[in-house]
Amino acid sequence: MNVKDKVESLKGVGKKTAALFSKININTIADLLRYYPRNYLIYGEPCDIESAVIGERVAIKASISSYVDVKKVRKLTIVTCNAKDVTGQVRLVWYNSPFLKQVFHIGQTYIFVGNLSVRKNQLIIEHPEYYSIEQYESMKTSMQPIYSLTAGLSNKTVTKGVKAALPLIDEIKDTVPKEIIDKFSLMPLEEAINGVHFPSDFDSMLLCRNRLVFDEFFIFLVRMAMIREHNVKSVNNYVIDDFTEIDKFIANLPFELTNGQREAVNDIKNDISSNSVMNRLIQGDVGSGKTAVAEIAILATVKNGYQAAFMAPTEVLAKQHYDSLIKDYKDYDVRVELLVGSTKLSEKRRIYEALTNGEIDVLVGTHALIQDKVVYNNLALVITDEQHRFGVRQREKLSKKGEDPHVLVMSATPIPRTLAIIMYGDLDISIIKDMPANRKPIKNCVVGPKYRPTAYKFMSDQIGEGHQIYIICPMVEASENVEAENVIEYQERIKEYFSSEVNIAYLHGKMSADEKNDIMESYVRKEIDILISTTVIEVGINNPNSTVMMIENAEKFGLSQLHQLRGRVGRGDAQSYCIMLCSSDNSDAQKRLEILNKSNDGFFIANEDLKLRGPGDFFGVRQSGDMLFMLGDIYNNADILKKASDAVNYLIKESFPLETLSDNNTTVYL
Ligand code: ADP
Ligand code: MG
Repeated sequence: MNVKDKVESLKGVGKKTAALFSKININTIADLLRYYPRNYLIYGEPCDIESAVIGERVAIKASISSYVDVKKVRKLTIVTCNAKDVTGQVRLVWYNSPFLKQVFHIGQTYIFVGNLSVRKNQLIIEHPEYYSIEQYESMKTSMQPIYSLTAGLSNKTVTKGVKAALPLIDEIKDTVPKEIIDKFSLMPLEEAINGVHFPSDFDSMLLCRNRLVFDEFFIFLVRMAMIREHNVKSVNNYVIDDFTEIDKFIANLPFELTNGQREAVNDIKNDISSNSVMNRLIQGDVGSGKTAVAEIAILATVKNGYQAAFMAPTEVLAKQHYDSLIKDYKDYDVRVELLVGSTKLSEKRRIYEALTNGEIDVLVGTHALIQDKVVYNNLALVITDEQHRFGVRQREKLSKKGEDPHVLVMSATPIPRTLAIIMYGDLDISIIKDMPANRKPIKNCVVGPKYRPTAYKFMSDQIGEGHQIYIICPMVEASENVEAENVIEYQERIKEYFSSEVNIAYLHGKMSADEKNDIMESYVRKEIDILISTTVIEVGINNPNSTVMMIENAEKFGLSQLHQLRGRVGRGDAQSYCIMLCSSDNSDAQKRLEILNKSNDGFFIANEDLKLRGPGDFFGVRQSGDMLFMLGDIYNNADILKKASDAVNYLIKESFPLETLSDNNTTVYL
């Protein structure tokens, strides 16, 4: 057997299980070994029934205090009994496990582990695990892996599979060259993989995990170095040097460009008219006017006879960009089209064809833009907005469309310069430091729930002056497990505070793309006064007439996210306000919000955010493309990132052939 063999060749893994594995992208034995736990179960010290927390997984030591009752309801067998300790009593329920009647007898003591809930005024645990005191003693402090699953696949099955694969672990190819392992004293890869699946304790798990984080960063940086090398060598296939149209466009803008915008535009002009291809990051705080820079770059491209693509992370934002381009280019004869996931199939087909035939100048959209079906005619510029929402792979894929097009990425994420140089090592960077001159700094306040009526009164006045308002709730609808405001109930509840002339609407991610677009469009047309929304409006949305942003349960959001949300107001010349409503008495939460209260500067906030990030965020293997790394966190693991960067620089200095490192096998795990 070999790690590259299919999972079916493992003992105990049948066809059915293999099919389930393939749903979560586990096909080979190596895939399975590289499928890291997303968290661990820790069997801690049992607690009293009285102090056990409802809604959480608890371990209680209790004695059986009633006869075991077995009932049949239709096809279901229900086993119930009570258990108690000196502080209280809990009801235990199991389904389809009639044999338990023979297991439990009055007076016996067990440790029961499960989720504690309340039903009919009674504490209850459904399907608790049960252990004798000796059994539990031996499990205590051990860490059991928890894997991300798919319907039909149990944690036990994955655990068993990984255990069966362990004997082959030595065969996993280590991408990191031996000289780096020695020079940087890295733990052997087998030991790290083993210890991440089945750690003996927390500290050793962290050490093992750190080695895998190093690998992620290392492979990423190797690829970066290779892209950079490729770019340096890449000649500019699309020399763009006729700037008469964009000079006219800039002169006709309804505003003067800020210094930062002007410098960014100059950098771009220099790049696209030079001998080598452009690869540039535009970094600028929310509201600094990055879209205008993008519009100028696109217009230059189109007026020199080429196509451009403009990619945004959400459909709502893509639509907004599309609308702005149509409006801003109306005197410039540019053919703009929108392509998103929800575009009708017939419409998609028409767009694909027109694009290939060169009948479209600019295609705006979501990642629908980079699907294989999309073939451009002469794509010379690719722009991604809100770059931090995309993975490098998506960026690579887009830049592979066409023949080495110019690449411009835009981001508001204010990552510190030292990190930016490592993370965006393949890009040149332009920073827009200043804000448009007409802006007044946003006025902030952090308040408690009692302040709500005052806030609503204030909003009424703002609406009276013709302005519009956003209210953010963390949840879409009511949930049993989370105590936080939700959009659906909120929009009902707040009606009574406003006159019937005030139009209130809501928006959330579970609505269809059409519904979302309709709402956003009527909001922009000022048919809606108050928009209650989840964070779907967080990125990029621009409606300069909005002057109030109220965030419910502000304590539940990260600082950078709050800053993004706040960035939806203060985008025009009217005074704007951000009301952060904190529903928690926790003093740490209030301290965090205080940082936003006293500063509107994204860089300052990001730095404070870093200082406050505890080391608590180790867990969570990321499955989505939202973040670059599955395990590593560029902030929390900044030291490992630095080490990996040193390692790659060392290899470059030694003229090590980097291309031998990134075979297809390893990049899969990036
Ligand atoms: P972001 O950098 O967050 O993407 P946008 O590009 O959406 O910001 O710009 C925010 C608003 O500022 C838009 O309404 C835009 O028209 C306006 N704007 C951009 N540049 C300027 C400027 N130089 N002067 C005044 N307003 C500007
Ligand atoms: Mg933007």
